[in-house]
Amino acid sequence: MTAADAASTQSRPFEADVAKLLHLMVHSVYSDKDVFLRELISNAADACERLRYEAIATPALLGDDPKPRITLILDAEQRRLTVEDNGIGMNRDEMVEALGTIARSGTKAFLERLQASEGEAGTNLIGQFGVGFYSAFIVADHVDVISRRAGTQEAWLWSSDGKGTYTVGSADAADAPARGTRVVLHLMEDAKTYTERAALERIVKAQSGHVPVPIAIVDKPGDAPAEIADGAALWTKPKSEITPAEYTDFYRSIAGQFDDPALTIHYRAEGRQEYTTLVFIPSTRPFDLFDAERKGRIKLYVRRVFITDDVEILPRFLRFVRGLVDSADLPLNVSREMIQESPVLEAIRKGVTTRVIGDLEKFAEKETEAYNKVWDAFGAVLKEGLYENFERREALLGLSRFKTTTSPEAWRSLKDYVAGLKENQTAIYYLAGDDMARLQASPHLEGFRARDVEVLLLNDPVDSFWVTMAPSFDGKPFRSVTQGEADLALIPRSDSSTDQKPADDAPTADFVSFVKATLGDAVSDVRVSERLTESAVCLVAPTSGPDRQLEKMLAGSGRLPAGAKPVLEINPRHALVESLIGLKDDDAIKADAAHLLLDQARVLDGEPPSDPRAFADRLARVIGRALPS
Ligand code: ADP
Ligand code: MG
Repeated sequence: MTAADAASTQSRPFEADVAKLLHLMVHSVYSDKDVFLRELISNAADACERLRYEAIATPALLGDDPKPRITLILDAEQRRLTVEDNGIGMNRDEMVEALGTIARSGTKAFLERLQASEGEAGTNLIGQFGVGFYSAFIVADHVDVISRRAGTQEAWLWSSDGKGTYTVGSADAADAPARGTRVVLHLMEDAKTYTERAALERIVKAQSGHVPVPIAIVDKPGDAPAEIADGAALWTKPKSEITPAEYTDFYRSIAGQFDDPALTIHYRAEGRQEYTTLVFIPSTRPFDLFDAERKGRIKLYVRRVFITDDVEILPRFLRFVRGLVDSADLPLNVSREMIQESPVLEAIRKGVTTRVIGDLEKFAEKETEAYNKVWDAFGAVLKEGLYENFERREALLGLSRFKTTTSPEAWRSLKDYVAGLKENQTAIYYLAGDDMARLQASPHLEGFRARDVEVLLLNDPVDSFWVTMAPSFDGKPFRSVTQGEADLALIPRSDSSTDQKPADDAPTADFVSFVKATLGDAVSDVRVSERLTESAVCLVAPTSGPDRQLEKMLAGSGRLPAGAKPVLEINPRHALVESLIGLKDDDAIKADAAHLLLDQARVLDGEPPSDPRAFADRLARVIGRALPS
């Protein structure tokens, strides 16, 4: 190195988050240290694929070395492991950016989770996330990265012991890879197994056997490389030649997941568009499932060349699906922006979406238990399609599963629900809210329970959105039990209670008018309830307009002016109400009672009394009267 080169070598601190992460790596007691190798190989493979892509426009980048490769070089004597690729490489700025800061969203998400959890749980998280390049410091106390960007002359050396700072400067060009990146791990004492060929081969086969770049191993410096993975694209092989274990390995390496796929979908579409799809439904939620961007992660290949994972191939409600689509028809040399608009891609989108939904339907049919687990993990996401994707709504309703009043623990399908409709029941009833226990205790359900009418209990935030888009299933509309008249009169009661006392007798009507006059415009109406059998009162929404739960959500987000007035329903068969109806000539106490009934209904809905001061005064007056004086 010349003096000028040496002078250009700079020591820099890591970005604060990196330092934190590194500290964790170095002090990690994480048992599955092998993951570091998967991360480094995956970076090397990405670098090869990025070169392959850039070379479409600039073939000269490939020079006289067009075949991508990854080489693992073992050096037991020096206790060193080197991972080298002939991919795109990095220049100085790229090194600083990629290795000195936290660029990738997965790593950020990891840190956020880590901050939310503590200690032991934190180290386990490494296993769930995979934290990229920095995982090298799980096994190495010093890491050198020597890289040469394709198409450039200079080579650069990045170097760090993972303790707060790194250096970056010129590398000896004679000793650097002609193109690409060499990552040299100076292994810790207790990590020397990573210089043993058998151990390494086993790990590579298990973790990275199907990355689309061949991997060779060099037993000791100077030896000839021996290929240990052929880089054949797994998806181009016929299904019959692929074992479940191979699919799982491939899934883990392409999806960055550590679980087993719940469902594997692999097929070749022929006809107007030719493409191969290999996608997986994970069995656990990917970390970015509820990111605001709601982006999918399907990789697009064109004739085995990786193009991008940034175009939308599946709709957002299927964003948990991982894998790839390899098209035979898209031109290789179009920009990523153009691809997004391409009619070929549009056809692929439609085809793959239909296939995934179709396979989920079959899965639900044949493997109910396993499908229910998929629903546990991804039901909330699939339901987004119910309001975002009109064309797929019918199919998605078929895939949807619900907790209900008759089945509060096990998932029920709408098909089952409709099969159990009661005589004269014309609607699918639901109750929406955020708390399952409160839903189940809701007075609105009483009349339905008394008739054995099943009610869907919707406690997912997305539920309030799709149910109001007037969906129907099998010709039956969805109807909220907290909205409009209950129209239960035609459905016979199944409990032993005697016929209901007619609700339209004169004293009841008088009491209802009195309450209505007393409450004024705090409510839009007061009426006798058909849906209550045990509670005295409840609030319902007027027939037109949003359901009460949705109304609250909209008001909360400022999208609806608060104040769509509810209807107060009164149960004339309740002992308290019966006494109030019978009470003559005591309007003061009746007026207090009217207000208290409204507040009681609000409390049952999880809301505070509208005027706490007045509520307390009224309550005190009423209790005072009841006490012996
Ligand atoms: P990710 O691979 O998810 O982007 P990593 O932490 O594994 O995150 O890597 C960070 C970045 O470092 C990569 O995005 C890439 O830009 C760069 N990088 C790492 N290894 C290589 C390599 N072998 N060749 C080229 N660039 C690399
Ligand atoms: Mg990576």
